[in-house]
Amino acid sequence: MIRFDNVSKRYLTGLDALAEVSFEIEAGEMAFVTGHSGAGKSTLLKLVSLAERPTRGYVTVNQRELARVRRRGIPQHRRGIGMVFQDHRLLTDRSVFDNVALPLLIAGTSRTETAKRVRAALDKVGLLAREKASPLALSTGEQQRVGIARAIVAKPPLIIADEPTGNLDPQLSLEIMNLFAEFGAVGTTVLIASHDLLLLKRMHKRVLVLDHGRLVDDYRPVRAA
Ligand code: ADP
Ligand code: ADP
Repeated sequence: MIRFDNVSKRYLTGLDALAEVSFEIEAGEMAFVTGHSGAGKSTLLKLVSLAERPTRGYVTVNQRELARVRRRGIPQHRRGIGMVFQDHRLLTDRSVFDNVALPLLIAGTSRTETAKRVRAALDKVGLLAREKASPLALSTGEQQRVGIARAIVAKPPLIIADEPTGNLDPQLSLEIMNLFAEFGAVGTTVLIASHDLLLLKRMHKRVLVLDHGRLVDDYRPVRAA
């Protein structure tokens, strides 16, 4: 589903945010990318979503070599990716329902189909009862779950998340990660950037470790007793 071939990314500042990174993530796999702040985690995700282009090397997503995707093809590319951010980026002047419906609105989905899918997505994250609420009325953990519902509502084959539990306490973080794991279990590929090693250890999923832009480890933690 995701393949990096010798990918390097040098920003205009001259800094190599990623250096000769190669790995492959199979369809349906759930994996984490970790490393200290500045290691290149966000950059890696941005290359997947075409928010950035590599300086060298090749990125393939869903069998598509991204160098072939031109600027006007980027929206279509992103429709195949559910994105979750640390600050969840919800629109505060719209209801929970409308926030989750956004990707379907953009895709031109009919109103009845939209209502059905939005409720199914909210049900999955346990927030069906809050569809009319403003995101501002929700707790941080609930807001993040709305962000996840929005990411999955159009059933993308790939979900990427950048520090999705960055603002949450350990218990809520685990709940959110377990939610991602559930999507992984039904065939969606999930790639999550997180620096929370304790949390990653509990998840028992593949971990890619970046250090100053280099992929220095690729392991799967042994399940804690
Ligand atoms: P992480 O997500 O692991 O914290 P990032 O991918 O955000 O790492 O950043 C990797 C390195 O690239 C950092 O040194 C960061 O300062 C630098 N960087 C990130 N974005 C840009 C940019 N747009 N321009 C210049 N340097 C950047
Ligand atoms: P970050 O919060 O990761 O540092 P930035 O502030 O650099 O992100 O984001 C710059 C712009 O790129 C924002 O408009 C944001 O919505 C968008 N963006 C950030 N990460 C991604 C991503 N992985 N894919 C697509 N767009 C992104």
